[in-house]
Amino acid sequence: MTAKIISGTEVAKEIREELRQEIAGLKEKHNLVPGLATVLVGADPASQSYVGGKEKTSIELGIYSERHDLPEETTQDELLALVDRLNKDPKIHGILVQLPLPKHLNETEVLFAINPQKDVDGFHPVNVGKLMIGEPDYLPCTPHGIQQLLIRTGVQVEGAEVVVVGRSNIVGKPIVNILLQKRAGANATVTICHTGTRDISFHTRRADILIVAAGRPKAVTADMVKEGAVVIDVGVNQVGTTAEGKRILVGDVDFEGVKEKASAITPVPGGVGPMTITMLMVNTVKAARLAAGLA
Ligand code: NAP
Repeated sequence: MTAKIISGTEVAKEIREELRQEIAGLKEKHNLVPGLATVLVGADPASQSYVGGKEKTSIELGIYSERHDLPEETTQDELLALVDRLNKDPKIHGILVQLPLPKHLNETEVLFAINPQKDVDGFHPVNVGKLMIGEPDYLPCTPHGIQQLLIRTGVQVEGAEVVVVGRSNIVGKPIVNILLQKRAGANATVTICHTGTRDISFHTRRADILIVAAGRPKAVTADMVKEGAVVIDVGVNQVGTTAEGKRILVGDVDFEGVKEKASAITPVPGGVGPMTITMLMVNTVKAARLAAGLA
């Protein structure tokens, strides 16, 4: 079997087209322009590229975009003061602080300072808690993107055995909470594996849907995958640079081997990545609607 390729690029394009129309409608009927502020501290090239992508996509869709690039030596107080200013700015509906922050800054304190209603990343404990109890306002972007990829490509999630490799707060834990919800596009039986799991293959081989977010190239190989499984590779690992200086990226799954066994698989790049930015735009539009009482 050679797997169908699940194109995040295509699904993201479809959602962005829907968003473009929704944003135009909000402006026309309600004079409402969703606003997103991105905050980047330091000059990490990967973070610069992510923030650049978010800014470009916002502008393309008609979202008001404000970019705050702060120097590496920014203090905690300066960063908190900016967050406070953005919390109070009515033009800004969503605030995204790009992670990781430089080591001298307290990431948790900064994330907690964002007004939960503007927390379009869904990382504030209020939003994490709301997801836990099944009443989410904002789903975290990468796991929400994964759920949309599954739903929009016709993968049966309800009742499926889902196995997640990785338990981070931004991917592993929230995707478990999302797919566990008793609602359409979820209602799965979910298992989560990590470095403390005794026999990872025992679990991964049971998966109808295998989601891998380990941050390790080839953490999942063909022998760990059930024939016909759907495999979602979240990993983005830089394994080198081209002669032109472009980053060479691979996922966490041994794509060549696993595609011969899976029924469907996401590529890297072009799989989960484009969905993450798109779901940030979805959350920003939702934040604008909530702020205007239109949700
Ligand atoms: P993370 O915070 O480093 O967490 C990795 C998790 O994987 C940890 O829970 C770790 O277990 C587990 N793990 C690592 N190696 C493992 C192995 N061999 N077997 C089983 N579990 C293992 O990573 P993250 O932030 O979730 O990101 C994961 C990957 O996704 C990275 O490559 C990242 O770049 C990528 N990512 C992509 C997007 C996107 O939009 N495409 C968004 C976010 C992240 P322990 O907890 O036991 O240490």
